[in-house]
Amino acid sequence: MDNCLFCKIIAGDIPSTKVYEDEYVFAFRDINPVAPVHVLVVPKQHIPCADAVDSSNSLYVAKCFEAIAKIAKAEGLENGYRVINNCGEDGGQTVMHLHFHLIGGTDLGIAIR
Ligand code: AMP
Ligand code: ZN
Repeated sequence: MDNCLFCKIIAGDIPSTKVYEDEYVFAFRDINPVAPVHVLVVPKQHIPCADAVDSSNSLYVAKCFEAIAKIAKAEGLENGYRVINNCGEDGGQTVMHLHFHLIGGTDLGIAIR
C-alpha cells in the first residue's frame, strides 16, 4: 500500500531492526519500546486492522502467532509475555497496518497495557 509506514518497512524502504521474517510475516523492534523486549509482528499483506480480518486473510494472522511463539523463544521469554493489538481510533491504533506488540523481558504485572 502506498504511504503505509509498515509496508515501507517490510519493503526495506524504511530501515528497521528486523528480528524475524518468513513468507507471511515481518517482525522488528519497536522504535519506542515499553519493556526490554518490544517487537512488532506484522503480516506482509496490508491488512488495516483487526476489524478487517476475514477468511480471505486470516492465514496471515495465524502465521503472525506462529512467529510470535518462535520470536518469544529466540528472545528468551520463557517466563511469559504479553501480545497486544490496538484496533482503530478508540483502541489507540496509530499505524493502520495490522500488527501485534510482543512485549516482555520483565514482570509486566498490570501496569503496561
Ligand atoms: P500502535 O499504536 O498499536 O498502532 O503501534 C504503533 C507502534 O509503532 C508504536 O509502538 C510505535 O512506537 C511504533 N513505530 C512507529 N514508527 C516506527 C518505526 N519507524 N520503527 C519501529 N517502530 C515504529
Ligand atoms: Zn501496510
